[in-house]
Amino acid sequence: MTDWAAVATDLAEEFATRASDIDREGRFPVENIERMKEVGYLTSVVPTELGGGGADLATFAECQQIIAAGCASTALATNMHLFGVGAAAEGWHMGDRASEPILQMVASGVVVGGSLTDAATGLNVRSSSTPARPVEGGYVISGRKSFCSLAPVLQFFWGTAADTETGQLLLFGLPRDTEGLNFKDTWDTMAMRGTGSWDVIFEDVFVPATAVQRGLDPNLPPVWDSAQERIFSWFSTSVAAVYLGIARAASAFAYDYVSNRTVTGASLPMSRQPAQIASAADIELTLRPAEAMLRDAIRRRADGELLEPSDIQALKYTAVNAANAAVDRCVRMVGGHGIFRKLPLERYYRDVRAGQFHPPSNDVAIETIGKAALGIDAGAEPRWPSD
Ligand SMILES: Cc1cc2nc3c(=O)[nH]c(=O)nc-3n(C[C@H](O)[C@H](O)[C@H](O)COP(=O)(O)OP(=O)(O)OC[C@H]3O[C@@H](n4cnc5c(N)ncnc54)[C@H](O)[C@@H]3O)c2cc1C
Repeated sequence: MTDWAAVATDLAEEFATRASDIDREGRFPVENIERMKEVGYLTSVVPTELGGGGADLATFAECQQIIAAGCASTALATNMHLFGVGAAAEGWHMGDRASEPILQMVASGVVVGGSLTDAATGLNVRSSSTPARPVEGGYVISGRKSFCSLAPVLQFFWGTAADTETGQLLLFGLPRDTEGLNFKDTWDTMAMRGTGSWDVIFEDVFVPATAVQRGLDPNLPPVWDSAQERIFSWFSTSVAAVYLGIARAASAFAYDYVSNRTVTGASLPMSRQPAQIASAADIELTLRPAEAMLRDAIRRRADGELLEPSDIQALKYTAVNAANAAVDRCVRMVGGHGIFRKLPLERYYRDVRAGQFHPPSNDVAIETIGKAALGIDAGAEPRWPSD
């Protein structure tokens, strides 16, 4: 069995040498994706029986945390390929064989990515403003989606659109070379600049009915079953791991910096100053509970527990916000030199800010967690009182 954490450590060391240039140029790290393919990392979560690496969620999250410390953009972009594949693989192990063709496709080297985000309206996992018009044998889709990480290299695309007759949310998959399907480089951002999260343009794209995986009626109450739990757990735990990885890279940098800086006239390094000791303690007291929560959630799932939406959202919320706060404190530790672009800290500071935007966003998570704590059904109407 491959030691995936060791593979991830080697990749992270190599990617760290390029991360600054990738960020500075805002370019997609094609060479990192090629290296990941060479060492089998992009098939690491596919079942060994289907030609993959057999990594489980605990291993995957650990590896993503390690890789994010080297190059957060590479980790996040490939997360969009790996989390869905991993969730499908876990389902396969539990007897759900419907995704076997996708897993075989990935095992053969295909990179998958997708966009559930509508360019005009953002993300609502229950509906889409991209229209899908029913025609004989399938649908015709025109519209624009955004935030499609991995767009420069993906070979198979997942997306959502709404059936114009029934309003159902359709999840569909298409090969990249489908007629009318185009990817446009719109990704000029302050954070995660190497993720290639381009726009996706649909110009009368024919989507055969066989390419539609499922339809979801937005008027029916949300269903929470093991399939839903799997996909949200794999997504949220790995996103949490990526952002905690950035925070750990920042804390390692800050600890090293103050330990090796002795200002003129001082008898001891900066790390001996009470303020620096307090900052280091604050960082640990911020990150350790988040890391423990992540490990706990993964362990509970491994023990057979079906996590609740509020469990999953709480761990993602805690991780990305802890990571954010910890990196802020790292900048305070390092001081003014921390904003120089020749040091990696300002990149960590920008990249870590993107964590709050992945679903569930902070605002959405707060509603879910608060309502669950108060015993209020997530679908209860009215959603908010009007008086
Ligand atoms: C680096 C990066 C990579 C990404 N990669 C992908 C990808 O590969 N595929 C993909 O599909 N998406 C991807 N996303 C997109 C992400 O999943 C979101 O869809 C995207 O950030 C759009 O969010 P928004 O904040 O613009 O959404 P909006 O829906 O416009 O929300 C705007 C604000 O309103 C708040 N809000 C919205 N709805 C509610 C609500 N119901 N209750 C309370 N508050 C609400 C939100 O919290 C947010 O603060 C990526 C995002 C980032 C940052």
